[in-house]
Amino acid sequence: MNLAAVVANPEGTFPRALPPRATRASRVARERLLGVVPEIEWRLLAPYVEEIRRLARERRAVILAHNYQTPEIFHGVADYVGDSLGLARQAAASGAEVIVQCGVHFMAETSKILCPHKTVLIPDLEAGCSLAASITAADVRLLRERYPGAPVVTYVNTSAEVKAESDVCCTSANAIEVVESLGAPRVIFLPDEFLGRYVAARTAVELVLWHGHCEVHERFTGGQLRELRASHPGVYVLAHPECPPEVLAEADYVGSTAGMIGAVSKSGASRVVMITECSMSDNVAAAHPEIEFVRPCNLCPHMKRITLPGILRSLQTMTHEVVVDPGVAARARRAVERMLAVAGGAGR
Ligand code: SF4
Repeated sequence: MNLAAVVANPEGTFPRALPPRATRASRVARERLLGVVPEIEWRLLAPYVEEIRRLARERRAVILAHNYQTPEIFHGVADYVGDSLGLARQAAASGAEVIVQCGVHFMAETSKILCPHKTVLIPDLEAGCSLAASITAADVRLLRERYPGAPVVTYVNTSAEVKAESDVCCTSANAIEVVESLGAPRVIFLPDEFLGRYVAARTAVELVLWHGHCEVHERFTGGQLRELRASHPGVYVLAHPECPPEVLAEADYVGSTAGMIGAVSKSGASRVVMITECSMSDNVAAAHPEIEFVRPCNLCPHMKRITLPGILRSLQTMTHEVVVDPGVAARARRAVERMLAVAGGAGR
């Protein structure tokens, strides 16, 4: 819960008292957040939920929230929730004129790439990503020179410019399928080294890897998982493939955020731990009160830049608009669409 942002309310944008009667939007949100947000906190959050939902209707805006957003955003104000690509596809299919992206910058760019005629807003322009920042378009061109003829597969966690230099994109859910679809003996796989090593261990295709890491997932260790198993007997361990190989070796299930959510339901486990960004456990726990969630908490500082006051300000002022050069967007769209043709493309 990012209550500090609400209390500080640096933008000074906000209605301070609860309206006399809650609207349907805030009643639904309250129900979803019952086990997660105490009543005293809810009284601070509810006016934001009310006003954001009202303004979203007025602006004909759709609010997208990534799985790593805090529960008051994920369950409180979002129209659609999910992984980055799923969100962009839902936005494209909706009739909304405006997209408010509650996620990081590359996700907003992906929405703009897939929805070039819609206005895409991000509440905080500084919401970046260590993986996306690890590589530039010039790096990709150099790799192509060094490995002539090798096709380039790029994870969706990259800038529009890097996607534009790629043959095809992938997600963590479809990376193996995309790599093998190319029929090439050697593929340049960018930029996540750990996802690349996970894929390389499961295909005969030789992968040229980059040294990009997610600053959230790289902090988990195998020793930490062994300690968790010892202190929480019977715990079912799910891990994201952006984690180091020693962590994945300790997991019961490895998969994308969407895959992990499905696996929690299917596992039948009464106690689980999700080795990924901290807020995802909060969001899944709200939907599964019967399961005990063990929570080693690694927060993504970029995702946490998105707050209720920031979303409200974004809708009030129609900022910050995300712009992608049309030529770059067209080439990046081709790489994303090739992925969708191969694999249907769910899950980050
Ligand atoms: S969790 Fe990792 S990959 Fe996701 S936005 Fe944060 S730094 Fe990037």
